Amino acid sequence: MSEVLELWERACVTPPAWRDDALLGEAAPASLSARNAALLTLRARLFGAVQRLRASCPQCATALEFEIDCAALARALGPASDAAQTHELRAEGYHMVYRAPDIGDWRAAAESADFASALMGRCIVRCEHDGAACEPESLPDAVADALSNALDALEPGASVDFDLRCPDCAAQWSAPLDCGAALFTELRARAEGLLVEIDALARAYGWSEAQVLALSATRRAAYLQLVGAV
Ligand SMILES: [Zn+2]
Repeated sequence: MSEVLELWERACVTPPAWRDDALLGEAAPASLSARNAALLTLRARLFGAVQRLRASCPQCATALEFEIDCAALARALGPASDAAQTHELRAEGYHMVYRAPDIGDWRAAAESADFASALMGRCIVRCEHDGAACEPESLPDAVADALSNALDALEPGASVDFDLRCPDCAAQWSAPLDCGAALFTELRARAEGLLVEIDALARAYGWSEAQVLALSATRRAAYLQLVGAV
């Protein structure tokens, strides 16, 4: 349980864009799908594999809840891509050499007004049209779309989505999951609950934080009941 408090504390003092790194620690991978897999694996280790998620229907706003197995999902995200490895795409006279985006590209693109084209620009290593070098910004829409699809295909686990169907109006949509943000929300709720428990038992018995955390969950619950804190 002290791990929950330590992770929460570390993540709290970290700007949101870097919070996933605070959760994953020094071993935070650069690959976007490996990061999602690591966050889901951490979630399974801290709170169990079954994760309840909520979404609301974009058409009628009905709230729905669904369960995922985050350990199984982490395994299913596929291999991490290697941003050092290059790939080639030829379309409409263009020849592009590109690589998979990693978290550094993602963060840099997020600071740009046009995320998608900024990300693409960073991932194009070389771009030629009819044998002459050209700028990634000059790509026609169809070629840019083909490249965008190729980048997505390199690392499908870079984004996690669930296909949902509204039980009320039958609308169907794809709901994205921000694995790091969802984990931080859970961590914060659990940490705040723990602090309330520590506070109650420290006041009642004079125990230290470490002493309260050393109690088993069953004993802690029993003492909390005794002091009327639950
Ligand atoms: Zn609906």
